[in-house]
Amino acid sequence: SMALRSGDIWSYHEDAGKVALEQQVSLMGELDLAIERGDLEVLYQPKLELATNRVTSAEALVRWRHPTRGYLSPDTFIPLAEESDRIGELTLFVLRRALDDLAQWSARGTVIRTAVNISARLIASAQFVGQVERMIRADGIAPDRLIFEITESATLRDPAGARAALMRWCDLGVAISMDDYGTGQSTLSYLKNLPLSELKIDRSFVQHAHQDRSDALLVRSTVELAHQLGLKVVAEGIEEAECLAYLRAIGCDYAQGYFIGKPMAGDDLLLAIEEIARAAA
Ligand code: C2E
Ligand code: MG
Ligand code: MG
Ligand code: MG
Repeated sequence: SMALRSGDIWSYHEDAGKVALEQQVSLMGELDLAIERGDLEVLYQPKLELATNRVTSAEALVRWRHPTRGYLSPDTFIPLAEESDRIGELTLFVLRRALDDLAQWSARGTVIRTAVNISARLIASAQFVGQVERMIRADGIAPDRLIFEITESATLRDPAGARAALMRWCDLGVAISMDDYGTGQSTLSYLKNLPLSELKIDRSFVQHAHQDRSDALLVRSTVELAHQLGLKVVAEGIEEAECLAYLRAIGCDYAQGYFIGKPMAGDDLLLAIEEIARAAA
């Protein structure tokens, strides 16, 4: 099932820029084994609810602890997993881990929601949509503790099909979040036809919003319009106190970024949540 066209390989070479061509080809072959052996790790990055100063959710972000190459970032291997049809398996692995961790945290008294990133091409797969549905139904965790982060490329490729898939998850109780908002072509008026509950503004607009007039305008107007459409807004990539203060001032709902917390192991997330709660009290 490894559909290797040379154009794809070279585009990865240019895009990733981190891993040489021959390494990319060998990585593709190693990914199955990595999933089997548990070499993939799931870290969590907190999202701060600005109205309460509490961490109410976290985003699951996958890492590959490669036996010889060290930690590999998802930007390196997610595109390879997509191209070699292993992305479904990888995503089910992350979802399984997220559900197990949610259950563990609940048992220890921390009830939050977890966001899982879902690749565009998976939304078009009826098999995957069904597998996710079965995994969630079979699990003890309430589906409303899950958020699926999608990107608009999923919805542009096949709008009707994407909408149907999202509706199925939405009917289960899973919240859908539009990731990397602002980097693509689609307008909010187009997105309003999808069952979204959240919009995540891309960090390229957020990062300098407190000091750049055009970024500020984009972020502020997106928050306003999203609210009018009944959507919550997450700003990602907050690296400075001034940026967080700005987002608070314009009524953004949630904030995520290194200033609040980097992606971390589940146990560390619990500690960070307690620390943030203590600081807010
Ligand atoms: P994303 O979903 O937009 O995730 C946000 C990325 O920005 C993460 O990088 C995160 O570590 C990084 N980030 C967060 N706060 C800051 C900040 O303040 N400053 C800067 N400079 N960066 C920040 P990461 O973990 O390397 O993930 C990159 C992308 O890989 C993700 O972008 C997502 O598209 C994809 N990805 C990660 N995990 C998964 C997964 O389990 N499944 C799928 N399909 N994709 C995944
Ligand atoms: Mg995301
Ligand atoms: Mg994002
Ligand atoms: Mg992104």
